[in-house]
Amino acid sequence: MEIKVTLAQTNRTRPQDSALGFGNVFTDHMFVMDYSKDNGWHDARIEPYADFSVPPSAMVFHYGQAIFEGLKAYKTPDKKICLFRAKDNFERMNRSAKGLCIPQIDVDFVMDAMKKLIKLEEKWIPETLGTSLYIRPTIIATDPFLGVRASYTYKFFIILSSVGAYYADGLNPVKIWVEKEHVRAIRGGMGEFKTAANYAASLFASEEAKKNGYDQVLWLDGIERKYIEEVGAMNIFLLIGDELVTPILNGSILPGITRYSVISLAKKWGMNISERKISVEEVFKAHEDGKLTEIFGSGTAAVISPVGEIRYGDKVISIGDGTPGETAMKFYNALTDIQYGKAEDTENWLEVIG
Ligand SMILES: *Cc1c(COP(=O)(O)O)cnc(C)c1O
Repeated sequence: MEIKVTLAQTNRTRPQDSALGFGNVFTDHMFVMDYSKDNGWHDARIEPYADFSVPPSAMVFHYGQAIFEGLKAYKTPDKKICLFRAKDNFERMNRSAKGLCIPQIDVDFVMDAMKKLIKLEEKWIPETLGTSLYIRPTIIATDPFLGVRASYTYKFFIILSSVGAYYADGLNPVKIWVEKEHVRAIRGGMGEFKTAANYAASLFASEEAKKNGYDQVLWLDGIERKYIEEVGAMNIFLLIGDELVTPILNGSILPGITRYSVISLAKKWGMNISERKISVEEVFKAHEDGKLTEIFGSGTAAVISPVGEIRYGDKVISIGDGTPGETAMKFYNALTDIQYGKAEDTENWLEVIG
């Protein structure tokens, strides 16, 4: 399929790297294509970033048939544009699509379209270490219809956002709130798919946690509310004695690409890494026994986010000494060194696109 390009008539400039936050500066262009039963994915185009015209009856607004991805392009010190495991994102998008009855995309085609868009928007990629171009591929259901069924038409789009360093002043450990009542997802539901609805489901508890002075929610499993699943929109790792534990994928946990990367590095470094069920009681017991030395989250936005405090009902425990743990830092440095081309890419995760 050919990609039609319409250039924007604008000379906007990128804000200074130090003024960038997360997800509020968008670039000049976007990639869009449409799907219909008769034509499949068609009308692929790069066009000026602008409002869409979608009818109020579009199914996405009523029944939430929407999926997305989140990945980044990085500028290395020698000005190369790099992607980190990008194909994994689009393969995951196809798994999410299947789960929500959305048609599959051609991974190689959308990868090419994305690269073309990124190269066109090169001036929007910030260059300071820790900054990046955040990439948001999304698919929404567009049938103008109020009956309940999977839509027959869809819109796929990729928008780009210049983002600042997640940690402007170092990796500060976050405080997390173990959520006892609300759940994010359940096995058999949509937890393993990257869909808008999972975020809607997380808001109430996140707001409650914030009101109580906590940064993120630690989600427990939706059935017994006993086993740890994720932290905020990140996967979670715990260092207990010499064992690095992450919850095993059970259908309600999002299979993070950063999670896979941490597991691979841990194996490579000869660490004792396990993917298994871990209950919140076990975590508190490990703390009591003096064995719980670190907890950290993993995800594309923050890479690694150390946890400094957990609250579960009226029990509060501190992890570490208020500074990021050694293991969290080791993973953070190893991953960012690969992403910014500062270390040899021994795992073949990086793709230089320009
Ligand atoms: C995207 C996401 C993650 C992290 O996945 P990465 O591929 O590592 O960015 C973790 N949990 C949830 C709920 C997510 O949506």
